[in-house]
Amino acid sequence: MRYPVRYDVIVVGGGHAGTEAALASARMGRKTLLLTHNIETLGQMSCNPSIGGIGKGHLVKEVDALGGAMALATDMGGIQFKTLNASKGPAVRATRAQADRILYKAAIRGMLENQENLDIFQQAVDDLLLDGDKVIGAVTQVGIEFMAASVVLTAGTFLGGKIHVGLENHVGGRAGDPASVTLSHRLRELNLPVGRLKTGTPPRIDGRTINLSILPIQPGDTPEPVFSVRGSRAMHPRQMPCWIAQTNARTHDIIRSGFDRSPMFTGKIEGVGPRYCPSIEDKINRFADKDSHQIFLEPEGLTTHEFYPNGISTSLPFDIQLAAVQSMVGLENARIIRPGYAIEYDYFDPRALKNSFESKAIAGLFFAGQVNGTTGYEEAAAQGLFAGLNAALYARDEAPWCPGRDEAYLGVLVDDLVTKGVTEPYRMFTSRAEFRLQLREDNADLRLTEHGRRLGLVGDAQWQAFEIKREAIATELERMKSTWVNPRILAAADAERVLGKAIEREYTLAELLRRPEVTYDSLMTLAVAGPGVSDATVAEQIEINVKYQGYIERQQFEVAKRDTLEDVALPDDFDYSVISGLSKEIQQKLSTQRPQTLGLASRISGVTPAALALLVVYLKKNQ
Ligand code: FAD
Repeated sequence: MRYPVRYDVIVVGGGHAGTEAALASARMGRKTLLLTHNIETLGQMSCNPSIGGIGKGHLVKEVDALGGAMALATDMGGIQFKTLNASKGPAVRATRAQADRILYKAAIRGMLENQENLDIFQQAVDDLLLDGDKVIGAVTQVGIEFMAASVVLTAGTFLGGKIHVGLENHVGGRAGDPASVTLSHRLRELNLPVGRLKTGTPPRIDGRTINLSILPIQPGDTPEPVFSVRGSRAMHPRQMPCWIAQTNARTHDIIRSGFDRSPMFTGKIEGVGPRYCPSIEDKINRFADKDSHQIFLEPEGLTTHEFYPNGISTSLPFDIQLAAVQSMVGLENARIIRPGYAIEYDYFDPRALKNSFESKAIAGLFFAGQVNGTTGYEEAAAQGLFAGLNAALYARDEAPWCPGRDEAYLGVLVDDLVTKGVTEPYRMFTSRAEFRLQLREDNADLRLTEHGRRLGLVGDAQWQAFEIKREAIATELERMKSTWVNPRILAAADAERVLGKAIEREYTLAELLRRPEVTYDSLMTLAVAGPGVSDATVAEQIEINVKYQGYIERQQFEVAKRDTLEDVALPDDFDYSVISGLSKEIQQKLSTQRPQTLGLASRISGVTPAALALLVVYLKKNQ
């Protein structure tokens, strides 16, 4: 049956990528359909109940600046908030929150159900409808055909999903959910470049059987950080601490005794796992000299006894899992509620995507999330929003949008994926961003809200609040630069208290703030300077702008230098074989990957500066 409504954009999958994709497209006014296996699992956290962290928090704030859902849902569902690296430079500071999974899911579902232009339909998608090399819709398990101008595929770990516990394995998309087997076969028939990856999750524990009273407790920060620019502390539910347990020599012996039944070590699992988030058996195998690993015991919510033991992801047999858990102090009587497991799944080589996430081979088909070889909710959400907005632009024949590597972690993520591909599940780190000094969590809104507004992603209330903040920053910065402090009117006691000593000449407030020992708040206690701005986020921008001005300007200079080549377009049908001096290997790489710009070409592995120089010369000559 052909469904009577025609859509602009269909999103397949209601995980972190799919929900942001569907919301983004609908916010932009496109008639959008979200097709997913099960409405009850919209926004489900398959693994750890937490959002953010270093690099990841940056992505969440960017999604938020573009009007996305993740940060706001975290404010509504977060039961512990922290600022990581609080004592380090602002570029690497990051927000992390522990979430109540039920509240988080409810918040996401609420946003989806109340979003204008968005329909939700529960049904597995088994096939795509194609017209030549163009997608025109999707077909569900019971044969309903939904037509659309573009389709965003966000099937997560579900495509050809295979779950492993010890030497046992079965087909599944995540524990308790079906795999997408038919769709996986169909996509393989389309000759899209496909590979296998794996990820794993720890067993979950009944908190009533943990002796929390003897374990070190770890509370969140006070005052609690707020994730979203639309969020507030008042939205946060009751807060909870975490606890810390340790593995020991006995735990490690037990784990080693299960190696001969480990699907990883016996070759049952072919997919490559995330190097930065290894299973406990992998850690014990690789770091044999370490006799203990820290395990964070994280409550999964306010209305459940379930705990997530962060750090013991495993696919060892259940008897080993149980013995290893019970070998730890405080967990001697622990009862496992759900076994840990690993999952292998299909991903598609992201080098086959344009830098809008549209497939190079099938027009109108966009990919986002774990299917692109990434891992993590935050990476998925950022990609989902990005693919959703580009699918929406495509549906109206408008040019795609992609932020640069100097503008957003989202730009870094997309660029890394489409130029370098993945050899293991990709996760975000601040070290991936060469311009990280200007890509901070604290200025995500200043970097991206204007783009979001232009694209139709940012609503009126967010935009108005942003304009007020931007204006306040500009005004206060100007005042800091133009207000002079005369040594004659500065009382000696005040100078001593705030500046450490008297000043010998006139300084502007900005010059005084540049001193390492001076903070904005302390400076504003001087009668000549204060009271200053009351919005802490504005004060933070003033302080960072003034204190890091030199570094930021140097980075902006680097960006400007690079920009001269970055956006030079390489035509789709460019014949690389005519460039003399270009090695056969590089010709082949460029012809296969077909980068759209010189900047993208420069980041393909093996493309040397010399090869780029040849390209530039050729382009200049033939302009
Ligand atoms: P998902 O959240 O998996 O969502 C996919 C959605 O698509 C689901 O709603 C599904 O029902 C739907 N779907 C799939 N196929 C179809 C179809 N044919 N028709 C309709 N709907 C469909 N991340 C980490 O950062 N650290 C970890 O340690 C970690 N461990 C993990 C362990 C396990 C066992 C699993 C399963 C995941 C783990 N992850 C981990 C990954 C994390 O869950 C994902 O990165 C994130 O959920 C990806 O989001 P997504 O939207 O791409 O996919």
